[in-house]
Amino acid sequence: MGIKNPWHSVKQPVYHNHSECNTGNNIEKENWRSGTGGKRLCDECKDWARK
Ligand SMILES: [Zn+2]
Repeated sequence: MGIKNPWHSVKQPVYHNHSECNTGNNIEKENWRSGTGGKRLCDECKDWARK
């Protein structure tokens, strides 16, 4: 739970780092990649980090 190592989808302009992020958890397996991909942090993950 909480902040994890970053991951992203090749289909999205953002990366995720929070285990509660719906968008991050709904990434299809074939589009899932480890790391930030040089993208910006997802807004939903940002909000979760403040809760
Ligand atoms: Zn996210």
